[in-house]
Amino acid sequence: MTVLAKGGCRCDTNPVRFSYNKAPAEVHYCLCTDCTDISGGAVALIAVVERSAFTITQGEDKIANYDTKPTCHRRFCQDCGCHMFLYVDAFPDHLLIHVPTLDRDSDVGVKPDRWVFVNSKHPLVTIPDDGLPRHPGWAASGDPVAA
Ligand SMILES: [Zn+2]
Ligand SMILES: [Zn+2]
Repeated sequence: MTVLAKGGCRCDTNPVRFSYNKAPAEVHYCLCTDCTDISGGAVALIAVVERSAFTITQGEDKIANYDTKPTCHRRFCQDCGCHMFLYVDAFPDHLLIHVPTLDRDSDVGVKPDRWVFVNSKHPLVTIPDDGLPRHPGWAASGDPVAA
């Protein structure tokens, strides 16, 4: 299968590495406090990828989990702390990958197409006038899930 995008953690030695081989179902900007607080970023850029298209290729034994909610399972490298991806119970067929952990020369597959959880935006952040739809909570492709 042809790899589309590759990524990993920040470790110099034996980093966690992963890849996916199919374009994401969507890529969104998330402003929820769950994503932003845990990654220390004002915005989370998330690729929603089919689990069957995703492979951990190296360093799987270094991956730790932290549940920011009972339904939200976030995976980190336990050596460098990099938060790479998460599993959300509402999306049993997909995982959510933090796009900045992909290699910069990787083809993400699709461009961001929406802003979600804009009601949780930090007051110092200004959403750019990019014409993309802005949703107060979740607005997933397919069935919307209540925030
Ligand atoms: Zn690491
Ligand atoms: Zn989020």
